[in-house]
Amino acid sequence: MDLQSKLPNVGTTIFTVMSRMAAEHGAINLSQGYPDFPVPPELLEKLNEYAQRGENQYPPMHGIAYLREQIAAKLARCYNITADAESEITVTSGATEALFVAIHSVVANGDEVIVFDPAYDSYEPAVTLAGGHTVHIPLNAGDFSIDWDRVRSAVSGRTRLIIINSPHNPTGAVIQRSDLDELADIIEDTRILVLSDEVYEHMVFGSDNHHSIASHPALREQSFVVSSFGKTYHATGWKVGYCVASPALTTEFRKVHQFVTFTTHTPTQWAIADYLEHHPERDEQLPAFYKAKRDLFLKEMQGIGFQMTPSHGTYFQLAAYGNISSSDDVSFVTELTQQAGVAAIPVSVFYESPPEQRLVRFCFAKSDDTLAEAAGLLRRYFE
Ligand code: PMP
Ligand code: GLN
Repeated sequence: MDLQSKLPNVGTTIFTVMSRMAAEHGAINLSQGYPDFPVPPELLEKLNEYAQRGENQYPPMHGIAYLREQIAAKLARCYNITADAESEITVTSGATEALFVAIHSVVANGDEVIVFDPAYDSYEPAVTLAGGHTVHIPLNAGDFSIDWDRVRSAVSGRTRLIIINSPHNPTGAVIQRSDLDELADIIEDTRILVLSDEVYEHMVFGSDNHHSIASHPALREQSFVVSSFGKTYHATGWKVGYCVASPALTTEFRKVHQFVTFTTHTPTQWAIADYLEHHPERDEQLPAFYKAKRDLFLKEMQGIGFQMTPSHGTYFQLAAYGNISSSDDVSFVTELTQQAGVAAIPVSVFYESPPEQRLVRFCFAKSDDTLAEAAGLLRRYFE
């Protein structure tokens, strides 16, 4: 068969590769990001309740009104943002779908899309399939901040979209309000749009809160903001996300969304809407919950030889390992998984041109016992 791949350089995602390797070798899986603790029991009960009640047929294409209204209420509560539930909020089957659809609704043949490396792995294939080209800008070494001068010089007449992600996977870096001002300055009076991936919005550990793109008046009209309930409710497998954008952008977004998934699992939408309404405190509790896990993990990992700057957000922690191994990061995580019994993610795979410093990413969304056991295995291995 003459099968010319549309994604010749794409293999299986690193998350699938590492989780599979962890399972094959019985390793503790700190690679792919997902919690090993349960979703809130009340949320499970609600899921069952709504399924039993008969909420099992196609919901509206853009999501049930109850959930869109609760998302609007959440945006007002957390960020003081006014978003119209009917014309500006679309429920999607996870953030992955929302990212794919946002890209396909605005990126055309020959358009350029700026991404920051290390970049989450779903961005580039979506751009390629849309006929666009990604322009990669590395985040600054050390603190993984954005070099706005580099962005200015990378912008061209063909630039259509800039994709940002804060809190950032895999580095845990968090953008500041001044970053949003820089971005607004760059896109002012241009056709450039912004796609902001904010799936870790409720996992920020410093005193400063998450800065949603949608809270910046100058960026609001030119941006898609994407988030997901998978992270907030310890339910990554439920795949319910959403996109917030101006009515004009939302119209284009929905034209694509209706032919990708059309809509999203009905009883889960009801359960999440009900839970969001009755437990608004959940979003505020999450940072302390994950900060305690990050701190425990850092403490348990002390003295093994990894160098770790505490993550500012997400449930990921980067670790430099130059002191304990000279292997490249892909070989190193293979060794960790197969020999030490702990799986991690190599960071170089998220770069167009990987930097010199070798890093791996650990997911600390695990029970305290699991984190302690993983650190114990690594300690014994490197002793
Ligand atoms: N963006 C980033 C940065 C992520 O880390 C993830 C998944 N963990 C997603 C998007 C996808 O989210 P979802 O599972 O809701 O599709
Ligand atoms: N986003 C998750 C991570 O970074 C994985 C999601 C996936 O497997 N597609 O680990």
